[in-house]
Amino acid sequence: MTDRFAARLGDKQVRDDIRLVAAFAAIYCRGNHHGRERAPLVSEASALGVYGRKAPVMCEECAEHIRYAEKRRAYCPKDPKPFCAHCDTHCYKPDESEWQRQMMRYAGPRSVFHGYAIPGIKHALEARKWRKAMAARSSNTEGR
Ligand code: SF4
Ligand SMILES: [Zn+2]
Repeated sequence: MTDRFAARLGDKQVRDDIRLVAAFAAIYCRGNHHGRERAPLVSEASALGVYGRKAPVMCEECAEHIRYAEKRRAYCPKDPKPFCAHCDTHCYKPDESEWQRQMMRYAGPRSVFHGYAIPGIKHALEARKWRKAMAARSSNTEGR
């Protein structure tokens, strides 16, 4: 782990965002990866105590995605940070970006029933805003 990563995790917003994406991944994993072995997440953020004593539980594949997402969030150059789906920088590798899109689409609406009512509603509103913006952009392009 680098000093820079540890320093970035001193920022409460960064820790909150990482906790949320990992919690959403646990919801996604539980709903989609039946029969896989699952364990509390082991990662650099968990080593720094970001998840407290109850790290989110997921399979190794989801854990690998979250280890990647922890780094991306820690080193995100945007301030304020938009939803990654709305970002013009797209620092994620394409396959990681696709995984996160699918995972958020599944877990976002369900998070309301897993103790994440406010982030879940915020996510649904943001997703709707983004879909509207994309629809407006494509109708503008078609009109040209
Ligand atoms: S995709 Fe954009 S908002 Fe998301 S972590 Fe990367 S730079 Fe930040
Ligand atoms: Zn999984």
